[in-house]
Amino acid sequence: MPVYYLNLTPKYEEGIIHYEVHEDNCTWLSGVKDREKLGNFRDCHGAIKEAQRRYSDWRIDGCKHCSPECHSL
Ligand SMILES: [Zn+2]
Repeated sequence: MPVYYLNLTPKYEEGIIHYEVHEDNCTWLSGVKDREKLGNFRDCHGAIKEAQRRYSDWRIDGCKHCSPECHSL
């Protein structure tokens, strides 16, 4: 199961501030210093759920590149 991380730096896309979840091997994660380990999950849905549990008032989205099935923005 892949390890997932939450990028703690907000992104601003489509006029919506949100935070992105990445798999540990995602090339877009390598430049991200401010990140939080979410843990091992079977897929991005579990990782998003965990991120949402920790930050209930944040809008959480999956990375378009490594977690396209969780990307909604
Ligand atoms: Zn990614």
